[in-house]
Amino acid sequence: MEQFDVIVIGAGPAGGAAAFWAARAGLTVALIDRKSFPRDKLCGGLVTGRARRHYAEIFGHEMPFEPEDCKTTVDFRYRGQSVGLIEDAPPLCATMRWDMDAMICGHALGAGAQDFTGQDMAALDPDTATLMLKDGRSLRYGVLIGADGVNSQVARHLFGQSFERARIGFGLEIEATDPHLHPDAPIRIDLAAAHWGYGWTFPKRRSTTIGVGGLLSKNPGMKRAMADYCDLLGINAPEARIKGQFLPFGDVRKVPGRGAVLLAGDAAGLVDPITGEGIGHALHSGHLAAQAAIDALAAHRPDTALHHYRRALRPLHRSLRMARLIRPVIFAPALEPSFARAFARSTTLRRQFLDLMAGDTDYHDILWQVVQRLPRLGLMALQRRRIEE
Ligand SMILES: Cc1cc2nc3c(=O)[nH]c(=O)nc-3n(C[C@H](O)[C@H](O)[C@H](O)COP(=O)(O)OP(=O)(O)OC[C@H]3O[C@@H](n4cnc5c(N)ncnc54)[C@H](O)[C@@H]3O)c2cc1C
Repeated sequence: MEQFDVIVIGAGPAGGAAAFWAARAGLTVALIDRKSFPRDKLCGGLVTGRARRHYAEIFGHEMPFEPEDCKTTVDFRYRGQSVGLIEDAPPLCATMRWDMDAMICGHALGAGAQDFTGQDMAALDPDTATLMLKDGRSLRYGVLIGADGVNSQVARHLFGQSFERARIGFGLEIEATDPHLHPDAPIRIDLAAAHWGYGWTFPKRRSTTIGVGGLLSKNPGMKRAMADYCDLLGINAPEARIKGQFLPFGDVRKVPGRGAVLLAGDAAGLVDPITGEGIGHALHSGHLAAQAAIDALAAHRPDTALHHYRRALRPLHRSLRMARLIRPVIFAPALEPSFARAFARSTTLRRQFLDLMAGDTDYHDILWQVVQRLPRLGLMALQRRRIEE
């Protein structure tokens, strides 16, 4: 049986970052993914300033982008109407996961992680710290990092299910190539294109990624929402080309693992419950999980890895908790129109939202601003209801 200090399952941003960091520290690392790379992953592929910062911290260089991939104009809409065109936003960079994930996985293998891509996990036994691959090989680990995405098999092993259906989000997307879509068009965000969620249009060099996403429980008709959004944009969207995936949109795991088994990225529910951003948190948590493994193994106590990891994750958990507190102000049907109006009127609010996406501010910092606006937003919602009645 082969023995590794760290086994990482999943070679997306979380797993690639974890495997790179652990291998670079001199540990023996196995990087397992059921797919061979490059592979596709349904995603808007929008890389925020926060994600780029985490990437640079981990890999020691800036994430490479062509200048035309980085947009500074964002067009916010509410029910089709403009609520703010911002022309000097902090850059938001558009990537294809096919390319980005292959690059990150390549960094991990280049740092010395052993390549088990194209291999699926068949069984896991945390009691004996072993796992079996579908080809029959058994591997033993000191610390296991489950970075196997939203449908995490590792999370299912530990907790019986990968996510809570009542709290999960869901997104539908299409890569559109309609002739009227221009790669230089601004990024467009459509509030209310889905319930408790939004629609997005991310122009890229060879296609435009168009999608809608929100809480699954509030969107029994997500396909209809997608069709309506495509109609609004004048996009020809044959159903066969629309793809869907779960998104842990606020379904954060309070305890992201057990003993020597850690969960990172989507497997730990680390997606922003308002913006749906997950790439940056996946990179960051993969990094933190690997560092927790390094510390636990250095102390010859792999079973303490979760303790180290939970401590390191505290600020991120706190920030995502704040975001969940704020989320109803933006998405609850009674408050949503008032929020859209406040957003249209207030340069500060729009700027804060963009700073948040850039990673220059935190939900913790804007909670007070939102609380100050709450009574007014609530009053406006009540007035509006009275007018409608
Ligand atoms: C529609 C949609 C749009 C999104 N848009 C954005 C966006 O624009 N910007 C953003 O920041 N975030 C976005 N996200 C969120 C983002 O895609 C995720 O948060 C991010 O991919 C999480 O990275 P990860 O490494 O945790 O998981 P993943 O990227 O899902 O990687 C998991 C890996 O594990 C592998 N795997 C799974 N099971 C096994 C197994 N049993 N054995 C071996 N390997 C396995 C998979 O093949 C995969 O390679 C979007 C999500 C959705 C659904």
